[in-house]
Amino acid sequence: MNEQPLREAVIETALETNRRGLNQGTSGNVSVRCGEGLLITPSGMAYEDLAPDDLVYMDADGRWPAHQKPSSEWHFHRAILRERDDIHAVIHVHSVYASVVAIQRHDIPPLHYMIAAAGGDSIRCAPYATFGTEALSHNALAALDGRYACLLANHGMIATGPDLARALWLTEEVELLARQYVLSLSLGGPTLLDAEEMQRVLEAFRHYGPRSGAARTASGQRPDAP
Ligand SMILES: [Zn+2]
Repeated sequence: MNEQPLREAVIETALETNRRGLNQGTSGNVSVRCGEGLLITPSGMAYEDLAPDDLVYMDADGRWPAHQKPSSEWHFHRAILRERDDIHAVIHVHSVYASVVAIQRHDIPPLHYMIAAAGGDSIRCAPYATFGTEALSHNALAALDGRYACLLANHGMIATGPDLARALWLTEEVELLARQYVLSLSLGGPTLLDAEEMQRVLEAFRHYGPRSGAARTASGQRPDAP
């Protein structure tokens, strides 16, 4: 397969997380399924400095070229892409509001119907584990069960999707929901949607189906959503 367009799309997605204020410095990482393996951003390089050849190809056995170093969070990228055949792209950021909620170790509750965009009636916060560990990968995978996004306690968030554009869109949505949650707490706390209403919304989202926004990765527009 031709990897080059995929390498360029990963870099463009990574740069877009910077432009949208979702990432700072070298804290985030992006991966995409590529054949039997995956492409992932390297460790310790600013997104602005990335060239296509800097992305690391990791094969199905978790091996990569000796002269390269994948992001320190490769464990959860690999685990998610290995365990979830409905997910082909993974984005991790330390965006401010998602991290603030994760510092409180709270799930984001159903305070807005867009919570359903992440696949359920809440966005779970995975229990704390040290960055870069298999333990963190294990916790993240559990928090993502049946979902496309989760928070990581005292750390940040993971958003995923069937392609890079959808994962980027969800990254921004999760950050917005976290921001809405934090702001609503300052007004006395959110009034939550009940389980019945969330079922209706989740059903509507299912019929709506995952929409690919692949053609619009760089445009700043969101893929369609209800
Ligand atoms: Zn991180």
